[in-house]
Order: sequence, then C-alpha cells, then structure tokens
Amino acid sequence: MTNKLETTALGGVPTGLYIGGSWRAAESERLLPVEDPSTGNVLVEIADASPADGMAALDAAVEAQESWGVTPPRERGEILRRAFETIMERIDELALVLTLEMGKPLGESRGEIAYAAEFVRWYGEEAVRINGRYTVSPNGSGRILTMKEPVGPCLFITPWNFPLAMGTRKIGPAIAAGCTMVVKPAKQTPLSMLLFAAILEECGLPPGVCNVVTTSNSGAVMEPLIRDGRARKLSFTGSTPVGRKLAEQAAGGLLRTSMELGGNAPFVVFADADLDAAVEGAMIAKMRNMGESCVAANRFLVETPVAAEFAGRLAERMAALVVGRGTEEGVDVGPIIDSPSREFIHGLVQDARSRGASVLTGGDVPEGPGWFYPPTVLCEIHPEARIVDEEVFGPVAPVLTFDGLDEAVAMANDTPFGLGAYVYTRDLARALSATERLEVGMVGLNRGLVSNPAAPFGGVKQSGLGREGGPEGLEEYLTTKYVAIEV
Ligand code: NAP
Repeated sequence: MTNKLETTALGGVPTGLYIGGSWRAAESERLLPVEDPSTGNVLVEIADASPADGMAALDAAVEAQESWGVTPPRERGEILRRAFETIMERIDELALVLTLEMGKPLGESRGEIAYAAEFVRWYGEEAVRINGRYTVSPNGSGRILTMKEPVGPCLFITPWNFPLAMGTRKIGPAIAAGCTMVVKPAKQTPLSMLLFAAILEECGLPPGVCNVVTTSNSGAVMEPLIRDGRARKLSFTGSTPVGRKLAEQAAGGLLRTSMELGGNAPFVVFADADLDAAVEGAMIAKMRNMGESCVAANRFLVETPVAAEFAGRLAERMAALVVGRGTEEGVDVGPIIDSPSREFIHGLVQDARSRGASVLTGGDVPEGPGWFYPPTVLCEIHPEARIVDEEVFGPVAPVLTFDGLDEAVAMANDTPFGLGAYVYTRDLARALSATERLEVGMVGLNRGLVSNPAAPFGGVKQSGLGREGGPEGLEEYLTTKYVAIEV
C-alpha cells in the first residue's frame, strides 16, 4: 500500500512521452502500468509508445541536432551543472520514486541518485575540455589539425537495475559532446527517467535534445529507429542476448555502438588475503543492489585453506540482512524486480542443490506478496551446476575452491563474459599477475566496488564494447575530423 508521502512523490512524476520538448500521450492513447515489485500493485499508468511515437522522437532529435551541436560548450556544461544541483536538491523525492519502481532500499536508492548525478556533474565539467590538436607532420611540409565533433543523434536503451544511473552515464556525455538523443528506459522502471527529463527541461535543455519514450513494445518501437539511418549511434545497457540482436540491427547502417552487457564476475580470495576485508568486500560486491548488478560477484573462488572460514563468515553476514519493502526503515534487501526473475534465480539454486550443493543460509522462496528472495550462500558446488556459468542477478553467493594462482585464473576466465573481477591478496606480485591475466574490463583489487563516474566502465568478450564514465565515456560521443594543411 502506498502512503501519503509515496502518493505525493508519484504525483510529481510526468506520465507522458517527452518528445520535442513537450509532454504528450501515446498516439494510440495506450497506457503502460508500472508495478511496485514489493507488492505487485500498480503504482501508476504512463504513456505506452507505439512505433509512430518512437519515430516522432527520432524526428525531434534529428531536427535539434544541428543547433545543439554548435551550442557553446559552456552553455551545455551549465545545463548539466544545474541538473546536477537540482537532482541533489530533490534526492529524497527521486530516491523514493526509484525505490517504489525498482524495489531497492531507500539508502541504496539515494546512493544510485548521487551516483547518477555525478555523471551529470563530471560531464558538465568536461564539456569545456573537448579539444583537438595541431601538430607538424614528420617531414615538416604540412600541418595536422584534428577537431572533435559530436557523433550526432543517439539512441539509448537502458535496463531496470539502475534506472537512473545507467541513463545519465549515457545522457551526461552525450549532452556534453553536443549530441541529441532518444532514450528508452526499461518498462519496469521508467519513472525516475521521466522525472530526470523534467529536470533537464527545467534546467534549460532545448526542445528535442533529449527525448524519452516509454513502451511495453521495445523491439517494435526501437528497431525502425536503429534501421532508419539518421541516428548515428546506439548505446545499449542490458543483457547479452538482446545486445547481440541490437548489434545485428545496427550493423546494416554501420551504426556506432556501445554495448554494456552481462557479466559473470569472479571474486577471487587467496589464502593470504585479509579475510575481514575480503568478507566486507564480498558483501558489497554481492549485495549492492540486491545482487542485481552486472558487476555483482557471481562466483566466489576461494583458496582451499580459507574456503570454509570465508564461506561461514559470509553466510553469517548474509543471514543477518533484513529483507523487506525498500521504503521501510532498517531494510537491507528489497524484492527482486519481477516474478520471472525470481523464478530464474531460484531455478539456479535448485539446480545447484540437485547436484549436491549445500545451503549455508537462505535458498527458499518466502510466502506472501512481492518478489522477495533471501540472501543465500551455497558451497560444494558441482562444476557443471548452471550457477557457475550463468549470471545470477540476485542475492545468491556460490562458493567454489581453488589451489594456486594458475587454477584461480583458469577458473575465473572460464566464461564467455568478461566484465568485472575482484581479487583479494596481500601479495603485490600475485595481485598484479592475477590482474594482468584476468580477461575482464575491470578489476577490484582488495576492493568490492569498481563503479566510479570518473573511471571507464565496460567489458571484453561477450560483456560488450566501449566504455562509459571518465574521459573514455566522452570519446564515445565524439568523432575526429582530420584536416591536412599545406604550408
Ligand atoms: P534486457 O532484457 O536486455 O533489457 C534491457 C533493455 O533493453 C530494456 O530497456 C528492454 O526494454 C530493452 N529491450 C529488450 N528487448 C529489446 C529489443 N528487442 N529491442 C530493443 N530493446 C529491447 O536486460 P535487463 O533484464 O533489463 O537488464 C539486466 C541485464 O543488463 C543483465 O544481463 C546485466 O548484466 C546487464 N547490465 C549491464 C550493465 C553494464 O554496464 N555492462 C549494467 C547494468 C545491467 P523492456 O524493458 O521494454 O523489455
């Protein structure tokens, strides 16, 4: 049940499509219900875009591109600065909406809003530092001038797990670079993105620069936009199968793409590690966002001499977490996003159990409303259990054992994914050797958190292409023009 505060926060959320600087109903007038995963109740109904609405959003982005691309960098940066300040002033309202649509506890939602705002601030600061270069050609007869230009209109598709931050990680650098965009948030969690669009409007973003379409029919709405030929870039965050399908669609028009896809992060603990720090880091790497994070520790690989102690201590900490509705005081773990996701997670646990895994804590679906799942620790995992290969995306920690660096690296790399990894050891040489040999885009060294707006986030192998965050994240929205000068 929503209380007065929740009703007020939801009342402030726009329910239309944001196209060309105005809010409008879907052409078909269809509505998309948004549910609270902790109750299953409908929170609010919003516009459900059709393909025609999607095309109208692309038209608006294309029309706005020319003037936005030459808007002074300081002006673009100032809009982002004001947006950062507005987000932080309204952090409690945004966090409440985020918790209602996604389920995570309010403290975590505040964390995500601050993280999302930091992309807006970072790229607002970078807008005025987009530079080319001027060099003398090696034989001295000419000059080489390079200039950076905006890529052009972009298409953004974002997931439900970090509904705002996965959006601002794209929107911030695109605005800074002078690109216009169409943003399609996930159908489960569109509300915080709609609020953010309203904030951008309030902060002076010109009409057509950022367009937001919400829909229950992503494929039908986005495919024509990807194939249209006028958008110049597709940036997607979500699962690897959907990323692969979108990359195929983008290939026809040779659209530039960024793909932030799934992971299967190993969390490697060597016998010499500081176990207190490793357990602390494990709790963050596993339980941030209830495990619904692409860089969540998916497999705990622990050196045999310390494996039992590590698993026991992790299970103790996991069992002490309070599961409940994210809006309630003292709750550490909210619900899973929806019923199919919870079934998938429980299926992985049951499969591991059927192959002999023991459950140190959790493992049973609770009764009652909402899609809750208990923090779970499994050990004695069969190497062919599905949980070793598949992305759990939930609060379940399987603990496996290894002996020595070579085996740790071999087990860690035995996956088609390559997003993040974590390594705990006190030995510098071992830490560096493991880091160099891991086939991933990011490593947390004696640290359970890698996400940082100033750092390049992204993967290798089937975890994706491109980087988001830091200076690398801005380059994704720029093209280089080279001018050969005769002297
Ligand atoms: P998903 O099912 O791939 O959906 C992601 C987005 O794609 C949603 O907006 C979804 O819209 C849309 N979509 C689905 N099918 C589409 C299609 N045929 N055409 C156009 N759009 C389509 O992933 P998810 O379940 O939301 O997110 C979880 C996955 O995201 C995990 O694998 C996780 O690892 C990954 N992820 C990666 C990163 C990273 O930075 N590498 C960050 C966060 C999450 P609808 O909601 O309408 O279906």
